[in-house]
Parts: sequence; structure tokens; C-alpha cells
Amino acid sequence: MEQVKLYDTTLRDGMGGPGMSLSVEEKLKVVEAVDGLGVHFIEAGFPSSNPKEEELFALLASVELDNALICAFGMTRRRGIAAEEDEALRTLVASFAPVCTLVGKTWGLHLEKVTRVSREENLSMIIDSVSFCRAHGKRVVYDAEHFFDAWEDDSGYALECVRAAVAAGAENVTLCDTNGATLPAPLAAATAAVVGDVGDRVEIGIHTHNDAECAVAGSLAAVDAGARMVQGTINGLGERTGNANLASILPALQLKMGHECVPADRLRLLTETAHFVDELLNLSPVASQPYVGRNAFAHKGGMHVAGVQADARTFEHVDPELVGNSRDVLISELSGKGSVLSRAEAAGIDLDADAAKRAVERLKEREHRGYHYEAADASFELLLRREAGEYVPLFRLESFRVITEKRADGRVETEATIKIWVEGQRHVRTAEGNGPVNALDRALRSAITELHPHLSEIELVNYKVRILDEHQGTGSVTRVLLDSSDGRDSWGTIGVSENIIEASWEALVESLEHAFQPRERGSQEAPLEALRPAEELAGRAKG
Ligand SMILES: [Zn+2]
Repeated sequence: MEQVKLYDTTLRDGMGGPGMSLSVEEKLKVVEAVDGLGVHFIEAGFPSSNPKEEELFALLASVELDNALICAFGMTRRRGIAAEEDEALRTLVASFAPVCTLVGKTWGLHLEKVTRVSREENLSMIIDSVSFCRAHGKRVVYDAEHFFDAWEDDSGYALECVRAAVAAGAENVTLCDTNGATLPAPLAAATAAVVGDVGDRVEIGIHTHNDAECAVAGSLAAVDAGARMVQGTINGLGERTGNANLASILPALQLKMGHECVPADRLRLLTETAHFVDELLNLSPVASQPYVGRNAFAHKGGMHVAGVQADARTFEHVDPELVGNSRDVLISELSGKGSVLSRAEAAGIDLDADAAKRAVERLKEREHRGYHYEAADASFELLLRREAGEYVPLFRLESFRVITEKRADGRVETEATIKIWVEGQRHVRTAEGNGPVNALDRALRSAITELHPHLSEIELVNYKVRILDEHQGTGSVTRVLLDSSDGRDSWGTIGVSENIIEASWEALVESLEHAFQPRERGSQEAPLEALRPAEELAGRAKG
């Protein structure tokens, strides 16, 4: 079967929803994760529409990806000016990205009511803009906005817009169901008509939104009708009801429709990647999400379990392992023994069979308490180190105390005191902060960086709190995720407790401890402290 390319727009269209916000470092992590999945194109956003995007593009220019090409997104030129005079288009072609994705109007209603551009002028805007990008050596994907509504309204003009982009040199024209209104059958019919008209000269892509809950179905129907590229977002993120969900489209194309999209070993990263993106956005992965959800292959008792044991096909639509999910009711995909071993190996940790077994048990028990390690790689690694006997504690805690005082004049003051032991010496530090976590962080750092100056470069770049009320019994627990960076690497840590300060403390300590651990390989040197006698290392009960 023919190859179908995947085009990820999580970082542009996917960020349209309320509360969707990622730092530049997090966006880079998304790019790397999506690239790891084997996706062919990654749309990174508008180059330099703001400083954050500018920074992202600068970073991306220096990152080497395995599979994906970065696409810079922009619009057709403004009306009444030449393409080369359009500031946004000039910025677009100046970007390092080898692919420019241009969006333009297709629907008469929009031309009349929104942009007030004549149909003829719109066609020249498409031609000029695509030609301009081509003249600057860019590959061009042309997104025909509102294509299916336009087709319904005036199929002749919609087709003219597509032909204009093709004539000007676009290598792909993507038909967009921007309002998410179109059902699969008419969408497939319109796609087939376009493929019939220009399919010998250009690749046709599909981009759908989920307003009628048909984004995935519509995308698959378009592929059946001849589309060879699918645009979408991880987990269907996006404004309103979301975009087409690549986490469902990819396995459907590959496992059910026989299209070759990504190598089989990449497809196995699907579940992990989908959860990783949710975690970065501080969203709980949806347990019932097809293919990647925790419940997607969970069977409840009786006949189902017996059936699955006799032959999995009796109750399972695909083999869960092919998408990196699991039939066992594992708490997460990380708690399988295979992934524990491969993580350990990647981190240079020697885990024997017994230690691996203990790590899996510990992981399950902790996940049950609310720990999720998808976005807390450093805490995961520390857990493995503890089981492998390779964990080096940074200090031993005697106690900490935080005082927050609100005054009559409205001022709030916070002070933290910590008492810790390092190499047989007691250190007491007090610090003020703009909040309890900040004060604790300062007190801890003032002690630690004096002893280990190399840890002073570490910065906390992100602090996320989520209340988990899914854990009954003692009531809700608080989960804190921290991202730290030393300017070269970044890592995530987690803390869970009924008490937000305690959860934050745990994540703070692990952030520093991660940087402190001796590394067998990699660029970091093993700190001298790793050579301390073992008895001094015996210490903290809990990490
Ligand atoms: Zn869209």
C-alpha cells in the first residue's frame, strides 16, 4: 500500500484551546517526541510572530531530528501588495524551516464577509504567495481553508483555488474542514473529485476539525478517497472540540488500512508519546481514549478475560503492544518490565532481574498513589537507581519548616528554615521567598550550592500543580511536576502528597538529586561526592 504521510500541527493548531500553553523548552520536547514517533512533518508555528516563537525557531534550527521536517506556518500575502512587500511572508521565507505551509481562503462567504477580497484577487494572492516561497527555495504545503464549505457553496471556485496553488508550485494541497462541519461521505466525495482533477500533479492532504465528532473518520475517508497526507494533533488537541487525533489516525492507517506510515517500532511509542504530551500540558490522559487510553484494552472479568486468553482477537480490535499499550491492567506503560529495563539501560543503570522486578512493583505502587512518570523522567531514573543500589543521596533531612504570615496591610511574607546533614555536618539555613515553595527552594539551594557549586546552574523552569481527586480514601492528593534545566539539559521531577508543600519539596529535592547522581556515561562528570564512604550515604528514608 502507498505511504501516507503524517503532518503534526499540535504546536500550532493544537495550541488553540483555552489554557493551552507550553514554554519553548516544552515545545521542543513535543517536537522531539513527535519526531520519535516517525511523523514526517511538524508544524512549529508562525516564525517570529512573537519572541517566544522566534526563540523556538532559533532552537529548532540547531536540533537534529530523526525523521521530521519542520514546517513554518504563514498566510497568503495581504491584499493589494506584492508578496515580497509582505512582512510576514518575508519572515516566513527567512526562517530556516525547509517547508512553508501557507493557508489561504477558498470560500466565497469568507471573501465577502471577512476579508473583503475579490475572487480574482484571492487567486492572485494564492499564486503570488506560493510562488514567492518557491522562489526562495522552500517546499510548499498549501492549506485550502474552509475547503469543504467552499466546495458545497461553489465547487468550481474551490477547485480554482486548489489549481492556483498547484500551478504556483505547491507540492501538497491540503483540504481543510476548518469548521469541522463535514461528515465523512461528502468529505470523501469532494476529496476524490480533487484527486481526480489535480492528483497527478500534486499530493492531496486532509486537515479536519472535530466539531461534528468526525475528524478521525473524515481523515480516514479522505485517505480512502486518495489523500496521501493527514494533518492532525496528538490526542486531538485543538480549539473548540479539537483537531483530528493523530493518535487514532496513525494506528488506523497502519494497522487497519494497510498504509505504511511509520516503522513498526516507532508505532510502539504511540501510547507513551500521547501521554507525554498530555502530561506536559498538565492534562490527565483520558482513560477511555482509543488505542492509547489506560482502559483501551482493559477487560473486566468473566467471559471477556477468558476469551482474550483463548484468543485475543475475540475481544480486542488490535494487538495493544503494537501501539505500546498493554492488556494487563498496568497503571502506565512505564510500569511494564520491558520499559523499565530499557529505561535503565538508556540511563546507564545496571538493573539485574530482581532489581527490575522490584522496580516494577515499586512503580505500580507509586502510580497507584498518584505518581505519573511520563513527564518526570528524572524521578523515574532516581527510582530505578534506588532499586539498583546506585542512588546517592544529596543530604539527610532533619526537618524543614515554613511560615507564611499575612499582615493587616495586605503584605504576605514567607520564610523557610531547613535543617539538613551532609557528610556528618549539620547545616541550618533560613530564607525568605515569594511563597512557601520558593522560600524552601532558596533555603535548600543556599546550603547545597555552597557544598556543590556545580548545582548552582540549575534553574526551575516550570512548576505545575494538579489536584488528583481520583484517589479515594484519604481524599484528594496534590501532584507537583517540576521542570529544571542547567542550560544544556532539562529534566522533570514529581512529588505527590496530601500536602502541597511536601509534594513540592519532594520534587525540588529530586530535581537537585538528579543533577547530583554520578553518571557512568554521557557528558556529565561524576561528582567527587560519589566516592564518599557508604555509611555516610545511608540516609534519607524517602525521596
Ligand atoms: Zn485547523
